[in-house]
Amino acid sequence: KKITIAIDGFSSTGKSTVAKKLAKELGYVYVDTGAMYRAVTLFMMRKVFVSEGNFDEEAIIRHLPFISLSFEFNEKLGFGEMYLNDENVEKEIRYMEVSQQVSKVSAIPQVRKKLVEQQQEMGKEKGIVMDGRDIGTVVFPDAELKLFMTASTQTRAQRRYDELKERGDEVDFDEVLQNVKDRDYMDSTREDSPLIMADDAVEFDNSNMGLDEQFEKILKIAKD
Ligand code: C5P
Repeated sequence: KKITIAIDGFSSTGKSTVAKKLAKELGYVYVDTGAMYRAVTLFMMRKVFVSEGNFDEEAIIRHLPFISLSFEFNEKLGFGEMYLNDENVEKEIRYMEVSQQVSKVSAIPQVRKKLVEQQQEMGKEKGIVMDGRDIGTVVFPDAELKLFMTASTQTRAQRRYDELKERGDEVDFDEVLQNVKDRDYMDSTREDSPLIMADDAVEFDNSNMGLDEQFEKILKIAKD
């Protein structure tokens, strides 16, 4: 029987790596909800409603109806890439500039409402692995399996830094570390759906765990 798997946790705790692998192993659909919040942020940055010194909440809310988000499965990558109004933005949404603004945009209740509705629609059919911050608490409170991933701040910043470097981005470690800390703070203190662990979630600290070991444990739970 197919189930719904919710994976939550702070940034760079290895959520997406585990989620993708689980989806592949089980033949499930994988949905990266962070990509959706990032795509909305990118759209608003292009319109200059959000920038280093500007945050026009009213304009953001007003322009939400002009955003259409979808995932298109990329055979070679093995997962769905993020499309914003039919444009592939998978690469651009990971830029540091977007990371620096995304938590502010995701704190707006109207933004969350729009995305949560779309996520719930996508999950109507069982056999889905969704990762984010509020999946087990808000999007799918009835998910059969909920995981909450944790890892030390230092480990997470190092992972994120390595990822960005590998892609050829010019980044500074301290800047990445600061961004991880800032997002932790904003994501867990916002009023609407703050990041908290669901009561019935299984906690996974993967600071010192290799991916295989971690994955075997989770897969065993999913199949039980
Ligand atoms: O998962 P990722 O780090 O790409 O998410 C980017 C940001 O999107 C998070 O820092 C958070 O502010 C927001 N987010 C959210 N709710 C989700 C997923 C992501 O608020 N379900």
